[in-house]
Amino acid sequence: MKYEYKSTCSYCGVGCGILVSRTSDGRVFIKGDPNHPVNKGKLCSKGLNLHHVVNNKSDRILYPKVRMAKSYPLQQVEWPKAIDRVAKVFTSLIRKFGPDSVGFYVSGQCLTEEYYLATKLAKGFWGTNNIDTNSRLCMSSAVVGYKMQVGEDLVPISYEDIDFADCFFITGANPAWCHPILFRRIEERKKNNSNVKIIVADPRRTQTCELADLHLQLKPGSDIYLNNAIGRILIEEDFIDSSYISKHLNGFEEYQKQVMTLSVKEYADKCGIKEADIRLAASFIGNAKGYIPMWAMGLNQSVIGVNKNLSLINLSLITGQIGKV
Ligand code: SF4
Repeated sequence: MKYEYKSTCSYCGVGCGILVSRTSDGRVFIKGDPNHPVNKGKLCSKGLNLHHVVNNKSDRILYPKVRMAKSYPLQQVEWPKAIDRVAKVFTSLIRKFGPDSVGFYVSGQCLTEEYYLATKLAKGFWGTNNIDTNSRLCMSSAVVGYKMQVGEDLVPISYEDIDFADCFFITGANPAWCHPILFRRIEERKKNNSNVKIIVADPRRTQTCELADLHLQLKPGSDIYLNNAIGRILIEEDFIDSSYISKHLNGFEEYQKQVMTLSVKEYADKCGIKEADIRLAASFIGNAKGYIPMWAMGLNQSVIGVNKNLSLINLSLITGQIGKV
């Protein structure tokens, strides 16, 4: 079978590359793209079943349907008529109530180009900032955390760094289930390097914990205490990178004061875990040549999500692990 089109799996943020073929009767087949830098041909069970979403039309709307008034039944119409109707309704609302009377809520599954078009329509043509997406809400704590700490919203690392890391701190995430292809890369790294350490912080015992050298089963919501306890130990045990701190960081003294407000034992009690386990986690991080923290919604989806992010990223900063070659 000839796979003519390249695309991206739309299920999760790992971004696996896929190759797509289409038969003359319209059926779609896919496989992992062996040359894609993210997944190198692999796909998880979600990605492997993507084509069923296209091929199985039993629960899909294949044509536009319009209800001319609330009490009217839905009627199938041609695309031009449907588009015209949508445009007229939006135009009349904007004329009557102003551009901020309308808005877009966009799916997290859109591609960059689709976000671009939707944003252009909302901001450029309708004249409203009322556009939001599930992808932004999911990651907004991380976005603010990054902006506050490194000045812009970007992850200062690439997937290749996994192959150089010797300590992973996975917190508030279950990548074994939620980001399987990324997790395969961590498994591979650990399989080939017995010195690689994996710490998992999660109130649940998930499948990710099976790969962990240390599972910190902390109380829900106590993440900042855990991260600050690790920060305190890194400072006290001189695992920090003083030259990096003086060259690149602002506010280290305030940070130091803040993490010293509780003893490691007090932090451990707040987290409901053993002090010795926090010390072990800190020693894994402190001794690492390449340290990667990984987190997801367990930290982000919280009323103190930004502070959880800041407390975690601080550990990378004080150990000089950002911007390292
Ligand atoms: S890990 Fe699975 S769901 Fe996520 S992008 Fe890759 S194939 Fe798709």
